[in-house]
Amino acid sequence: KSYLPSTSRYDQMKYRRCGNSGLLLPLISLGLWHNFGHTDDFNNARNLLRTAFDHGITHFDLANNYGPPYGAAEDNFGRIFQKDFKHLRDELVISSKAGWDMWPGPYGNYGSRKYLIASLDQSLKRMGLDYVDIFYHHRPDPDTPLEETMGALHHIVQQGKALYVGISQYNAEDTAKAYDILKQMGTPLLIHQPRYNMFDRWIEDGLLDVLGQKGIGSIAFSPLEQGILTNKYLNGMPADSRAVKDARYLKSDQITPEILKKVQSLNEIASNRNQSLAQMALAWVLRDQKITTVLVGVSKQKQLLDNISALANLEFTAEELNQIETILKS
Ligand code: NDP
Repeated sequence: KSYLPSTSRYDQMKYRRCGNSGLLLPLISLGLWHNFGHTDDFNNARNLLRTAFDHGITHFDLANNYGPPYGAAEDNFGRIFQKDFKHLRDELVISSKAGWDMWPGPYGNYGSRKYLIASLDQSLKRMGLDYVDIFYHHRPDPDTPLEETMGALHHIVQQGKALYVGISQYNAEDTAKAYDILKQMGTPLLIHQPRYNMFDRWIEDGLLDVLGQKGIGSIAFSPLEQGILTNKYLNGMPADSRAVKDARYLKSDQITPEILKKVQSLNEIASNRNQSLAQMALAWVLRDQKITTVLVGVSKQKQLLDNISALANLEFTAEELNQIETILKS
């Protein structure tokens, strides 16, 4: 059946400016790392994208190697895009990345110009797009000169294959350098994509300052710590959870009794706020205006709706923030 997006799709979602740029991003963005591979349910994937867009989530985040197998998420996204979203292209911000292993040999990994340009061409073909809105270098490459990697990003923008560029997982110092190199070439560094959540706060130690000083936006990935920062593991290990059904990146032994004790206490604060823990965890990441958007993954429509409702309460009292600090430090 053809897709008619909800006419009220822009009524509830809020949008934040991405750094000093002209681009507004929804407070919640949807990532396709999991649940969009060839081993996943295509109709569920399609329904997730439709539900997201119906609620004003205009930003979909991909990478060359999301699957499984590598490339599958872009493939499936491309199929869904052709069916449902082609006429809505100008209402969407679609991103992809290269930087991790993608194809065999010395040219399918890291940060060379050779790899980045070839990879983006492949991504565009898989998705059936003329351009992506944001193209990222997915992780720092210690052996390729930053000038070459940033030069490749600049070239891609000049060619019109990406409107904006970003970096992911770069530390504060390299982020500042990348920004300066790109600026000299005349291409702004739009956005940084770091891992950030209540349990992983490395960006508070320098990176956020650089983002603020340079006017770079940010999109926080794994804001729910892959699902740990929700109520789902509080009463055992659900069979349909990531830790049980897909142990590629989240192993069940990472979910220790110590962690669950903190999750339980956080869950109590959330319920005092009339929120789910997922909602509070997202609101907490968004409490700093330098975070433009939180990048969630979802396996089910109801999770997406739960996450979107985080917007109903984004404010924290000083007391709540203190209570959260105490739990996290315990
Ligand atoms: P999250 O921390 O949001 O974890 C998502 C998982 O949490 C879901 O698959 C689901 O797990 C569970 N979940 C989500 N919402 C709820 C809810 N309301 N209630 C209960 N459980 C919930 O993010 P991801 O780790 O998936 O990462 C998000 C995106 O970030 C990726 O898709 C990708 O785009 C990007 N990313 C980028 C990286 C980079 O290097 N730049 C690295 C990793 C991710 P379940 O399957 O158990 O239902």
